[in-house]
Amino acid sequence: MNVILLGPPGVGKGTQGVLLAEGKAWKHVATGDILRANRREGTPLGKEAQKYMDAGELVPDELIVAMVKDTLEAMPPSQGVVFDGFPRTVPQAESLDLALQELGRRVDRVVVLEADDEVLVKRIAGRRSCPECGSVFNVYANPPQREGVCDKCGADLVHRPDDNPETVQNRLDVYKAQTEPLIRFYDGREGVMARIPGEGGVDEIQQGIRAAL
Ligand code: AMP
Repeated sequence: MNVILLGPPGVGKGTQGVLLAEGKAWKHVATGDILRANRREGTPLGKEAQKYMDAGELVPDELIVAMVKDTLEAMPPSQGVVFDGFPRTVPQAESLDLALQELGRRVDRVVVLEADDEVLVKRIAGRRSCPECGSVFNVYANPPQREGVCDKCGADLVHRPDDNPETVQNRLDVYKAQTEPLIRFYDGREGVMARIPGEGGVDEIQQGIRAAL
């Protein structure tokens, strides 16, 4: 199954995507995580992406699409996928349709997680991310067992540089202008779209997502 998690920054796509992929033994394809790994490793893609990410802007479609295609082609054909943070524009969604078609796959479900801006801003302020394994915690709602340390791999947690308040506002604006139109893009497809409130507890939201699949 190929599932897209769609929703604004801070709504919980990362947390929910990791849980869903683990529970189903699917691959979690989070384009933000792949870009951050490229930045850490100092690859040409990472260097190119840096200026866009730090400003809260989108990295150009062609770079993202090439990166996702490489990931998909390296996977066994029957491997389920959770896309998190991709697609983020209509051209990305069109390219994804084509890439999946070439591999005999299709978009099976699009789960839209929804929350008000105030909730998102507060969540992002409390977000702490693991730069090593990509796990996401929240100092208010989902704290790590040891403060500042990743439960999963023991690395020091960070507050992402693009999680500062000015960049967050820009990311929310970019979401509304460029990514929200994807809801219309997928809405006409029979049995594909599900909308889930993203404001409850982590387990409750996960149950809602699984029920929608
Ligand atoms: P995320 O971790 O999904 O919040 O992504 C962090 C940043 O990476 C975004 O603000 C963008 O700069 C970039 N990014 C991640 N995914 C995409 C994508 N699908 N298209 C364009 N830029 C992306």
